[in-house]
Amino acid sequence: MPVIDPSLREALVARLRFYRDIGVTDFYRRPVDPEVLAQLQPDASTEVSNTGRSFDQLRTGSGAPAEVPTQVPESRLGVPADVDVVEENEPIPPRKPIATPPAVITEIKPADNHPTDEDLSVGTPDRAAALRLIREDIGDCTRCGLHKGRNKLVFADGSPNARLMFVGEGPGADEDAQGLPFVGRAGQLLNNMITAMGLKREEVYIANVVKCRPPNNRTPEPEEANTCSPFLFRQIDVVGPEVIVALGATAATYLLGQRQPLAGLRGRVHSFRGAKLIVTYHPAFLLRDPRQKKEAWADLQIAMRELGLKAPSRG
Ligand code: URA
Repeated sequence: MPVIDPSLREALVARLRFYRDIGVTDFYRRPVDPEVLAQLQPDASTEVSNTGRSFDQLRTGSGAPAEVPTQVPESRLGVPADVDVVEENEPIPPRKPIATPPAVITEIKPADNHPTDEDLSVGTPDRAAALRLIREDIGDCTRCGLHKGRNKLVFADGSPNARLMFVGEGPGADEDAQGLPFVGRAGQLLNNMITAMGLKREEVYIANVVKCRPPNNRTPEPEEANTCSPFLFRQIDVVGPEVIVALGATAATYLLGQRQPLAGLRGRVHSFRGAKLIVTYHPAFLLRDPRQKKEAWADLQIAMRELGLKAPSRG
């Protein structure tokens, strides 16, 4: 009888927690050897393959589907993301509730001798200078604990005059090393998504909820996200994008101020600080489950419609 390695089991638990965090609560099931099933705790799920499909495949949803969790007990299927699906006999602690970010963010005052963002952005097109000011205000930040593990602070990338902005969760290892958002594998997929929309990366603006890498790429704690996100909001105000695409549950949560499964937020146009906000899956999730690329493409098409963009013809 096959034995489940404890480290595999740990990885499976982590993966299931990841699914829960991003709001994925429905799982396909396929027949499992009853002997294997008997060995598994009810929370275990299978490791998924990380296939890194092209965005052409994203547009069609093609490519070999990733394996999917199989052993989630039927009684727990479809429970909301904020309900622990893995608590039975399970060492995973319940997630701390995400504090609701303030609906209206009070202005962070720049240093006295500085012009305000408004001085720089209203009446003058120098958004780049206004963004530099925000970066200066952040400085060598120690406002939350994330600074302790930081190599480079990741401010943003792209055009200060962008019509379209992408917001992710927080830097990973590659981003922390380079000081730029979305430069690792998820970034490659994001680049492909941008290209499929008929845009160049340099034409859009890309930032994250938190600017320093969380240890082991964990989800930022509410305190960390709420400390950092006012700077993101100022960046949004300066760039003034027409459309914001929130990549994943963390971005959606802290932009919209409500924690909900992604399923309830996707497929419609929200509004945030004068922009239209569209929620889609995080590229890192799409790398793990390429079948959802088709859904992500549908979300991006909403963004394109709002921007009056047509997808470039293929071939
Ligand atoms: N994931 C994110 O959410 N942001 C990045 O910058 C990179 C990976």
